[in-house]
Amino acid sequence: MIAWRRHLHRHPEVSFHEHETSAFVAQTLGELGVEVSRPTETSVLGRLAGTEPGPVVALRADIDALPITEESGVEFAPERPGAMHACGHDGHTAMLLGAAATLAAEGVPRGEVRFIFQHGEELAPGGARELIAAGVMEGVDFVYGCHLWTPLEYGKVAAVPGDWMAAADFFELRVTGRGGHAGLPHTAVDTVACAAELVGALQHIVSRRLDPLAAAVVTVGSFHAGDAPNVIPGEAVLRGTARSFDPDVRALIPKLIEEIGHGVCAAHRADFELDFVYGYAPVVNDAAAVELVRSVAAEELADLAPIMGGDDFSAYLAEAPGCYAFIGAGGAFPHHHPRFVIDERALAIGTRMHVDVARKVLG
Ligand SMILES: [Zn+2]
Ligand SMILES: [Zn+2]
Repeated sequence: MIAWRRHLHRHPEVSFHEHETSAFVAQTLGELGVEVSRPTETSVLGRLAGTEPGPVVALRADIDALPITEESGVEFAPERPGAMHACGHDGHTAMLLGAAATLAAEGVPRGEVRFIFQHGEELAPGGARELIAAGVMEGVDFVYGCHLWTPLEYGKVAAVPGDWMAAADFFELRVTGRGGHAGLPHTAVDTVACAAELVGALQHIVSRRLDPLAAAVVTVGSFHAGDAPNVIPGEAVLRGTARSFDPDVRALIPKLIEEIGHGVCAAHRADFELDFVYGYAPVVNDAAAVELVRSVAAEELADLAPIMGGDDFSAYLAEAPGCYAFIGAGGAFPHHHPRFVIDERALAIGTRMHVDVARKVLG
């Protein structure tokens, strides 16, 4: 599994471009004796079916990388800049391949195990909804997935009922003014100064407008305006993400962005346009499914509070009861960081969890 993981790590592909990755997964599954199909161009579905009828359990791994240039210094770093497995999805892929190898070797007497190798988790609207539209969840009784998690120490597993990961929505704000000479600002409408004020003002959504006990995040992660030090640009574009759990809070955030955006821009004579896209629903784990998962991780169970990261595993949970667990992979740098590394010993734990959850559901 470490060899598989390092091969994938050396050849990362960003969301919706996982051509070599999915070909590698399909070939490996085929060699293991797993029935392989390709629900979309860059995803893979594996099936092991028993001769007797029984429950259908789906196990999911996401396979995509991020548009980051790696700085970790590991010997199996990518050959090309611009893509990196900085979230651990290379490990997820290797763990699910490991589970497929184990279950293929011992055989599935009854029911069915489905191995979902999902493309495009890191980019909304995400690959999960395409796979569901392609029918991968038809007849599924139980769905399980896991994320390697470096803030959690190696050897620990977290499976938590209820709200677990936040809704992840995305927005783009376009501030338009009037370009001009940087030395004559009174003849222009300065979009940089206006948009800079808007970035700060948006933080009032969480700190002043929402109930302090309601979890929410508004992050502007991208600010683009201008190319020259002596030119006032006519346009500034901000892009960001909003996170929440409560459906009312989720619906309120775009209204507040709109209100604050119009207010700030009106004060500075600029125009404002908001494009808000609802991304992933919150990941809410089924209580009974969590109990089943916890029962096969008795030794390693850890307490972990819900996080405001999002994952389109929520789309599967809308189709069948299930659980999204976190596997401790202890490391110094956060997910999505150019120096992100995982503790590879965690692969064995994640694989065993996949296998034991499948065995337990199949009885
Ligand atoms: Zn990620
Ligand atoms: Zn991830």
